[in-house]
Amino acid sequence: MTLFDTLARHGHEQVVFCHNPETGLRAIVAIHDTTLGPALGGLRMWPYEDEGAALTDVLRLSRGMTYKNALAGLDHGGGKAVIIGDPRRDKNEALMRSFGRFLESLGGRYITAEDVGMTETDMERIRGETDWVVGNSTVLGGSGDPSPFTAQGTVAGIRASLRERFCREEIGDFTYAVQGLGHVGMDIVRRLCEHDARVHVTDVDDDSVQRAVDEYGCTAVAPEAIYDVDAEVFVPCALGGVLNAETIPRLRCQIVAGAANNQLADDAAGDAVHERGIVYAPDYAINAGGVMNVSLELEGYSRERAHAMVERIEQTLTDIFERARGEGIPTWRAADRLAEHRIASMARVRSSAPATPAQTGTRRASCG
Ligand code: NAD
Repeated sequence: MTLFDTLARHGHEQVVFCHNPETGLRAIVAIHDTTLGPALGGLRMWPYEDEGAALTDVLRLSRGMTYKNALAGLDHGGGKAVIIGDPRRDKNEALMRSFGRFLESLGGRYITAEDVGMTETDMERIRGETDWVVGNSTVLGGSGDPSPFTAQGTVAGIRASLRERFCREEIGDFTYAVQGLGHVGMDIVRRLCEHDARVHVTDVDDDSVQRAVDEYGCTAVAPEAIYDVDAEVFVPCALGGVLNAETIPRLRCQIVAGAANNQLADDAAGDAVHERGIVYAPDYAINAGGVMNVSLELEGYSRERAHAMVERIEQTLTDIFERARGEGIPTWRAADRLAEHRIASMARVRSSAPATPAQTGTRRASCG
């Protein structure tokens, strides 16, 4: 299969290979779809085995951002960028700034943000060459850490999920199993415990577990045992691929609603969760609080507006559940369809200019 066949198969618009032998930069920017607006998505640095692996990753991730931004209600398409290299060894100012110059040359068709392997310092260096960067620190007038917004949106999505399964949404009436107590997971735990919910927690980092026990009164569980916890809601906030052929049969929950990216190992896992009668809140819909927050930097950032926007996730999840029920399909499929519907309807809006007075007059005349 040729490169253009691959792009056509997944609907990518543009792929830019950025090469600067002076700085050692080897990067790929993938712009998947700009129907809704300029592409927005993170930049990651990773020691890919070869260019093929980097290309596969950036094509997959940029397509995912199209769906995520569409369902988040943003006027942004999907894009992503990868720098090939070891983030612990191969980084320097010149490398970052040369990526910034390539970004600038795209004229705002792709807007970047921090992702795996990047730090605040790296993003500042990129910003030295271009303004097309969001997720900036508050000292630079940006929106700062997106994690609290991701946590807020996840809890909003949990409320929608509780209503879908139990026709009630009182957070404190239920038991939760939270996997991963990092930036997002710990803030979710804090929010759940504010409602006096019963919360089981796990992490590979013992100090984080101890903090959740001491500060919030959570019950500690070993990392491998989290799937077997008898709790109504499983909240994955650590790794991808945690819903798979091995874990799904073990789940005792009735809802899976967490912030981790790519929770389903594959489409079959999504179908298996559905067949078990578990309500699954699609990850890219429930964890969109962070991207909603950073997107507002482009219009002049307002924290109040960001909080209000993130609450919309509850309605988005409700729409997904309704569609899934109505069509008898798994929720992950319903989420994809809603995103595709929004993109298609906005494409129609943008391709149809309002009729001019002259056109209206002509039609009236011909109608007699
Ligand atoms: P983080 O790195 O701060 O936290 C991840 C936590 O998971 C860490 O405490 C780590 O020790 C723990 N962990 C790793 N392996 C584990 C295992 N096997 N079992 C239990 N715990 C384990 O990351 P984060 O920013 O909190 O993000 C969490 C998830 O949410 C990730 O999948 C991320 O991609 C996704 N996400 C985050 C944001 C955001 O705003 N930070 C936005 C969207 C999606």
